[in-house]
Amino acid sequence: MAQYDFDLFTIGGGSGGVRASRVSAAFGARAAVAEDGRFGGTCVNVGCIPKKLFSYAAHYREEFEVARAYGWTADEPRFDWRTLLANKDREIARLNGVYERLLTNAGVSIVRARAVVRGPHEVEAGGRTCTARHILVATGSWPQVPDIAGREHAITSNEAFHLERLPESVIVVGGGYIAVEFASIFNGLGVKTTLAYRGAKLLRGFDHELGERLADEMAKKGVAIRLNTNVTAFAKRADGSIDARLTDGSSIPVGAAMFATGRKPNTRNLGLETAGVKLAADGAIIVDAYSKSSVDSIHAIGDATNRLNLTPVATAEAMALANTLFRGRPTAMDHDNVPTAVFSDPNLATVGLGEAAARERLGAVEIYKTAFRSLKHSLTSSEEKTFMKLVVDANTQRVVGAHMLGPEAGEIIQGIAIAVKLGATKAQFDATIGIHPTAAEEFVTLREKAS
Ligand code: FAD
Ligand code: NDP
Repeated sequence: MAQYDFDLFTIGGGSGGVRASRVSAAFGARAAVAEDGRFGGTCVNVGCIPKKLFSYAAHYREEFEVARAYGWTADEPRFDWRTLLANKDREIARLNGVYERLLTNAGVSIVRARAVVRGPHEVEAGGRTCTARHILVATGSWPQVPDIAGREHAITSNEAFHLERLPESVIVVGGGYIAVEFASIFNGLGVKTTLAYRGAKLLRGFDHELGERLADEMAKKGVAIRLNTNVTAFAKRADGSIDARLTDGSSIPVGAAMFATGRKPNTRNLGLETAGVKLAADGAIIVDAYSKSSVDSIHAIGDATNRLNLTPVATAEAMALANTLFRGRPTAMDHDNVPTAVFSDPNLATVGLGEAAARERLGAVEIYKTAFRSLKHSLTSSEEKTFMKLVVDANTQRVVGAHMLGPEAGEIIQGIAIAVKLGATKAQFDATIGIHPTAAEEFVTLREKAS
């Protein structure tokens, strides 16, 4: 082993890279990690964490209204964006420090520089070339925006976390995770919000009813949802506002425009092709189930491989790789039944197969579902509906999909995901006693098959 400077050299100190480096070091590997930005990567700096903090902030508007129905009165609440930004930045700086300490405490060498691959065992970073028995590429992904006129006037999620001031109005382009989350955040914070999506249903790939119902719920809360509509151009007006031109020929003036039109693996100019690493058309590093690339000594995890672009998936891929390389336990990553939540307002979460995907894969399926006004809203004028759906394999009676739209959907589906992962049947769901009164109990009391 000593013929190389390191046993593992990781490029990228985000969710996947930090976990792989520190766990490998704990298993006895001489590990180094290069990071040219801030430790923690996308999730900590411009992703999951600040997004969820913004999402909490946005939910307060409704909570103040709900509180009135429960007898509370207070002065008219006012929101201060700068306070939220400052508190968020302080927390992110704390987390940057936590991530860095995790690495140094584990004995990982830190290289603060952009790194590139120079060969199957060579990495260049900060003007130095190191050798490594294994190289791990964990460089994440970057927002991609369509090539339309005036696109330079629009921001992406990266900039949305650092806006000098909150605009009075915004158009968000896209219909995926980031689009619905940020449209909900802006709307909750009092920004007049339009969401323009080129498709007919939000959240392609999710159970179709979640996307349909989310559009209805967001519209009830005040978001102007423009489906089957894309932006063709942005133009800056003399007063600094932006004119968003849409495919239906209309145009709307907005204070800010945001693209949430997907992300691309961060693999350009990394020296990968020269080293013999095969990339897919979208730039994703092609890897096997053990996260090994087409070059035996070069591995890749997380968004750079564009498999399932979620933080817990990146960290699980990291754990599997560390076990494979440095613990003598070859571990393939299991990407089945990964639960996921979308922190829109209302939240939604899902595990397993949607109805259409289940029909396609399994043939006969049984559907159980319910939509109801939550107990909390029985005292308010809110028309918000919570929705739950179970997809059951008709042959085995296993629950193969669980879907929810409603408050704390992620918290609820996380528990249901254990049962789905274990292959629980509908009868076992039914045999479980509910916790009353909760919304979650509906998942164990669904008796009527949907026609
Ligand atoms: P990253 O975390 O992006 O880390 C890559 C790191 O590599 C970065 O720090 C980068 O600076 C560094 N780097 C890149 N190139 C080089 C180089 N050449 N040399 C040195 N360093 C380099 N996932 C969830 O599970 N839940 C959520 O709620 C959620 N919310 C999200 C919200 C937003 C707005 C976004 C954009 C993403 C969100 N995600 C969420 C996805 C999640 O952030 C990513 O899946 C996760 O961060 C991927 O981890 P990674 O290690 O692959 O890459
Ligand atoms: P998504 O892939 O989720 O959504 C991209 C959206 O942009 C889709 O609606 C897509 O439409 C649309 N789109 C793509 N190209 C164009 C175009 N040229 N013009 C107009 N619309 C376009 O990507 P996001 O950027 O929202 O998020 C990236 C990833 O980050 C997510 O997939 C997820 O893995 C992760 N993430 C996870 C979160 C969480 O766990 N809560 C939160 C945020 C991000 P179409 O469907 O028609 O292709």
